[in-house]
Amino acid sequence: MDTTKIIDGKQIAADFRKKLAEEIQQSGISPGLAVILVGDDPASLIYAKNKQKAAQEVGVNVEVHHLPALSSERMVLDLIDELNERTDIHGILLQLPVPMHLNPQNLIECIMPIKDVDGLHPVNVGKMTSGLPAMIPCTPMGCLYLIKQVVPSLVGKQAVVVGRSALVGRPLAHLLLQEDCTVTQAHSKTKNLPEICRQADILVAAVGVPHLIGADSIKKGAVVIDVGINRQENGKITGDVDFEAVKDLVSYITPVPGGVGPMTIAMLLFNTLKAAKNQKEKGVNLAPYKE
Ligand code: NAD
Repeated sequence: MDTTKIIDGKQIAADFRKKLAEEIQQSGISPGLAVILVGDDPASLIYAKNKQKAAQEVGVNVEVHHLPALSSERMVLDLIDELNERTDIHGILLQLPVPMHLNPQNLIECIMPIKDVDGLHPVNVGKMTSGLPAMIPCTPMGCLYLIKQVVPSLVGKQAVVVGRSALVGRPLAHLLLQEDCTVTQAHSKTKNLPEICRQADILVAAVGVPHLIGADSIKKGAVVIDVGINRQENGKITGDVDFEAVKDLVSYITPVPGGVGPMTIAMLLFNTLKAAKNQKEKGVNLAPYKE
């Protein structure tokens, strides 16, 4: 395949982190990130480790708080309260999924919006969907960054986002709308999915179904962003897009692995610096949630 068609997320994220590291060094700010990990989900352990490594490399102080799988909601909330109050911690990330007995929404809503580096607190969701400055979820922001590497102006483009999760699909559709795309959001109840996907200049798959998107879903020359991370029986990771089947039709495509994944982590670090700058500028009282 023509390798110039590949959007090399690994390299783009490395370049982005390099610039971020320079900015952190020059800013005199020492951003602090706390990652909360409850339980021993193997994928989450790897993700938390990757985040820790990347953060350390760019000069973000990172702590991983690893709580036992059977932690009560109170225990997690107490930790969040403590992190909310600390002035050296600017970003708090709750690694999802959490064990079944915990309600992730209850936990997320206790993170101070200004420290919500995952952009999942309803205050940030509301601001983002209103087009106001907000903390934006990392994966959608990473997707948009990759798309803009190859299509700098998205005005008037047809975009189809497959998936409507709070973490990826929904916020990405809003970001594309704010870029003046005409956006269609597809999901598990969508009828004639390939026909809808074939309208897309920009096609994003954020589903979690391996190879759902095949050649019959691609308009010639489309830009395809594959968010899916699906572990196969042989242990290898594959995306939601059948890369081999579509590669000759697309103009650009992200690989899995090495596409969206590295960009997600880079954006988490970006959000941590942004949170630190916001907190420094506003000199806010960092403990407004306790009576
Ligand atoms: P999710 O399970 O919360 O949402 C999946 C979405 O896909 C739902 O909105 C559902 O309606 C839709 N869907 C399911 N089956 C479908 C079908 N047959 N046709 C059309 N739509 C269908 O998942 P998520 O958190 O949004 O993650 C999606 C994928 O992206 C997963 O593979 C996940 O591992 C991956 N992911 C990757 C990154 C990254 O950094 N690369 C980050 C987050 C998620």
